[in-house]
Amino acid sequence: MSVFVSGANGFIAQHILAQLLAKDYNVIAAVRSQEKADGLLKNFDNPNLQCVIVPDITKLEAFDDAFKNNGSKIKYVIHAASPVTDHTDNFERDILIPAVNGTKAILNSIKKYASKNVERFIQTSSLAALTTVQDYANPKLSFNEKSWSTYTWESCQGSMFDAYSGSKKFAEQEVWKFAEENRDTIKFSITTVNPAFVFGPQVFDNEVKSKLNVTCQIVNDMIHLPIGATDFSLNPLYCVHVEDVAKAHVQALDDPTLVGKRLLMSNGLANRQDMLNIAHDDFPILNGNVAVGTPSNGFIGKPLPVATLDNTDTKQLLGFQFKSLNDMFDDLIRQVLKHEGKI
Ligand code: NDP
Repeated sequence: MSVFVSGANGFIAQHILAQLLAKDYNVIAAVRSQEKADGLLKNFDNPNLQCVIVPDITKLEAFDDAFKNNGSKIKYVIHAASPVTDHTDNFERDILIPAVNGTKAILNSIKKYASKNVERFIQTSSLAALTTVQDYANPKLSFNEKSWSTYTWESCQGSMFDAYSGSKKFAEQEVWKFAEENRDTIKFSITTVNPAFVFGPQVFDNEVKSKLNVTCQIVNDMIHLPIGATDFSLNPLYCVHVEDVAKAHVQALDDPTLVGKRLLMSNGLANRQDMLNIAHDDFPILNGNVAVGTPSNGFIGKPLPVATLDNTDTKQLLGFQFKSLNDMFDDLIRQVLKHEGKI
């Protein structure tokens, strides 16, 4: 039996694929084009990996062919495809609708073609589903695995990050609603993985480009800041290592204690100055070549300037030690500097 993974060429999903294949799962990986399929198949070079092309997840029948052709062999589904972008001014078209329709589409295809054998459905949701940008910035508030942001479809369209956050909330709500409405016809149970900002290396060194996926690009920008630059956001970000996020997805396939849970994944808070401080401490090659910013503006060790994230339950349920902030940034920076021939 196989695991179906959507958005399989994405930053997080490739780590999921790597961990699934290392555990000898058969994987059916959905990507948008043959070119992306060829890239994955070449890099992984593993007979247990097969690719299917799902070009447009905004169409409610998007996954029908994939499930019509493969449904009988799929036991687990991981839905990771969703827009993560830093350049659009059409939030509904490019963020909200693909996130929500993609989720509806994959659930409906399972119901039509694989309802007898799919046992687990894992949705890659987000910390962004739990709180608004405004509430996140309020140190008097706290949130945990039970929280939901107060965004409405209309109120989330003020900025790109609001829209992204809304898209994660509405897409995740589709999952829980579907389970409730189809209790008698489906047999799968659900877990959502709700990561904070995800950092770490790409699975394959040849995936390192001058521009990385949106979150890793934050660190990539910092380690290329020209000497003297001090003009960057000091907004603190809750952070988690990509390998821990992938591990939670894989654990959720067969760990009965994770059924019906939302896994809130974060292991610390850092701002861009902290990233720069860690980079200079751990990679001396950067000293004298990259801005130092204002080291004392780092957040680590200071009183919490934003809402408290309480993920005690998630950590207890998963039972493994999350990787540190230094691991997240160092693993990413080391790979980029190696790619650039600097170390
Ligand atoms: P990536 O951009 O690397 O991966 C996103 C994946 O979704 C890609 O495979 C992409 O395909 C696919 N996708 C995006 N939009 C569409 C669309 N309109 N139609 C079809 N496929 C689409 O991002 P991440 O790996 O970071 O994100 C993966 C998941 O994790 C997403 O659901 C994201 O919301 C969630 N997440 C990410 C966090 C982070 O910090 N990175 C934090 C919390 C949650 P293509 O490559 O063809 O564009």
